Amino acid sequence: MKFKIVTIFPEIFDSYFNESILKRAQKEKLIEIKIHNLRDWTTDKHKTVDDTPYGGGAGMVLKIEPIWRCVQSLSSKSRSSLRSRTILFSAKGKRYTQDDAKRLAEYDNLILICGRYEGVDERVAEHIADEEISIGDYVLTGGEIPAMVVVDSISRLLPGALGNAESIEEESHNQEGQLEYPQYTKPEDFQGWKVPEVLLSGNHKEINKWRKEKTKSEPLINT
Ligand code: SAM
Repeated sequence: MKFKIVTIFPEIFDSYFNESILKRAQKEKLIEIKIHNLRDWTTDKHKTVDDTPYGGGAGMVLKIEPIWRCVQSLSSKSRSSLRSRTILFSAKGKRYTQDDAKRLAEYDNLILICGRYEGVDERVAEHIADEEISIGDYVLTGGEIPAMVVVDSISRLLPGALGNAESIEEESHNQEGQLEYPQYTKPEDFQGWKVPEVLLSGNHKEINKWRKEKTKSEPLINT
């Protein structure tokens, strides 16, 4: 799986993609992540990527031309037989879920366009992107965190990315409404807060039954 991320802040990704599972997945060539600086597809000497909005209003909008050139170039470098999808991150996009992660994990190439400022010229959503994704109903400063979310959630689904494939089956959201059972580790008793007896019993039938029951628990909110 190749992830091609288009951004005006390429350095944001340095740390996150070079740790843990994502680092290993790249080393083992399960995924390839390339960061593309949108400014490299500008043609003026100031490397302008944004301009004021038509109709007036606050802030700046990312221009279509550099995005068009960048996506054209990235698409032409992929073999036509490969399954590719271009995604624009947008607070008004379709809300991203685990089902989207599973669906997108079937592609060979994902081009991820990170917006900034007041957003992106709407013609990018209309004519360049295949879909617009929002990672939640709130507004972030840019599409870089959403890109990390999408790369991370898809990468861990790819065969071989996690040490133990079973853990995907049991994880939260693997099926609709599924939340993982509670996990505990040592010590058995921390300041009187005890691990449930059944987990210490060694009785795997009872442990599995307890875990199954807990799979449907409501999220905890301590008031
Ligand atoms: N003016 C826009 C609005 O009201 O919808 C918000 C623009 S936001 C400050 C700049 C960029 O951050 C967006 O173009 C998008 O790429 C990204 N972004 C912000 N919130 C997001 C979200 N919830 N999901 C995905 N991308 C988001």
